[in-house]
Amino acid sequence: MKTLIQGGYAVGFNGKEHEVIKDGVVVFENDRVVHVGKQFADPVDRRIDAKGCLVSPGFIDTHFHSGSNAGDYLLNEPDKPDFFASNYLAHGAPTREGGKQAHLKDVDVGQRFSLVHLLKSGVTTTLEIGGPGGDPERYVEMVGALGIRCYTGPSYKNVDFFHDREGRLEYDWSDERGSAGLKGAVDFVKRYHGACGGRVQTMLFPGHVDTCTPELLKETRKAAKELGVRVQIHAAINLIEFHAVMRRYRLTPVELLGKIGFLDPEVSLSHCVFLTGHSWTAYPYGDDLKRITDSGASVAHSPLKYLKIGVAMESFDRYLKAGINVGIGTDTFPKDIISEMRYAALVSRLVDKSFIAGHPRDVFNAATVGGARLIGRDDLGRLQKGAKADITIINLRDIAFGAVRDPIKALVETAAGRDVRTVIVDGEILVDQGTCLRVNEDELIEKLQARAEEIWAGVPKWHWTGKGVDEVLPPAFKMK
Ligand SMILES: [Zn+2]
Repeated sequence: MKTLIQGGYAVGFNGKEHEVIKDGVVVFENDRVVHVGKQFADPVDRRIDAKGCLVSPGFIDTHFHSGSNAGDYLLNEPDKPDFFASNYLAHGAPTREGGKQAHLKDVDVGQRFSLVHLLKSGVTTTLEIGGPGGDPERYVEMVGALGIRCYTGPSYKNVDFFHDREGRLEYDWSDERGSAGLKGAVDFVKRYHGACGGRVQTMLFPGHVDTCTPELLKETRKAAKELGVRVQIHAAINLIEFHAVMRRYRLTPVELLGKIGFLDPEVSLSHCVFLTGHSWTAYPYGDDLKRITDSGASVAHSPLKYLKIGVAMESFDRYLKAGINVGIGTDTFPKDIISEMRYAALVSRLVDKSFIAGHPRDVFNAATVGGARLIGRDDLGRLQKGAKADITIINLRDIAFGAVRDPIKALVETAAGRDVRTVIVDGEILVDQGTCLRVNEDELIEKLQARAEEIWAGVPKWHWTGKGVDEVLPPAFKMK
């Protein structure tokens, strides 16, 4: 079936870079784009009117964790004192006896909700770190039914974290846990790589530089090369990790990865904020940025997660200028990649003290071709003949946008996920008129709220203080 998207601003790809075609057309047949240009004379089976819209390549989310946003809220609320600068540790480290209570990921509600949220904000390909951990078969089935393109695999590490009742962080190391985790991840790759008509692809996701032994990391690279899959690891993501690795090896996290031969173009580093020269590390020695550039590794940048704790990558522009390929991620919540582009741009301006930093062109590239390069795909993140028909249509004809001269600048300056009108993956329309066609959204929201209430009620069972959610995370105002 041949479909023509008519009107608006079509973002074509000329083989080198994006170009915007005013009143353009995008034509796709089955799962492939067949034409992008000013017009198309041949007959088509279906037409989509995109007047006043940006017809964009579907966005690629290079770092994302699914699960109920109730859990993510606990992780992200900025006034949670034990969260400051330690991100996942405050949430991912329950008490020893409460371990099982803290994570209520499930395929039917939390994970489904997350992927629907992503799709509705225009993401057509996501890297879901650790997604299929609990129930791989049903997880893959659910991804298949929703229609999104997903690079995924269970995450693994040597360490289990806990807080003791005084709030002290404990690391439990186990070589066996690490190798069993890697084995499970390799089995997942062998079983599901290319599932759901190729929409499910797999990767290896060792947890973090400070939670895996160098041996496990070396084994990971070896296994990934044998399997022909890519690897992503959380690296340089908080000060605790930076100092833990410094203390153990007298190397920065990036130096350690370089030294053990982990870094190359098939590897991406999530977050990668706390590098030598970053103002928080107060460590002026070495050149982590150059080490990443020389290795060809990519960086998955999720700015909002760090803004929430008052930390910034230093900086998006500096990484690009160093020659590093950067993709955009949404990480936790909200999962709105269009807003993430805006945050990436604005934070770079602030950090660089330059109003010409964080150009809309560069953040749009990061969310499209940058993401595609990170996963080694030249048929994603662009609209040109032969590319996958992964397309996001965003409405720019609204009072909120005023007069539009440059649609990419309008998108980055003003738009949010809620402006996304249509999302197409592999030529299938998954979101139309802002509604996900493959789920009952009302029902999903209702189930999510009920699940969230359960999670909040369960906080005293796993939080080291034993206190209720309103004490751990006081509401903005008194609630009656
Ligand atoms: Zn993460």
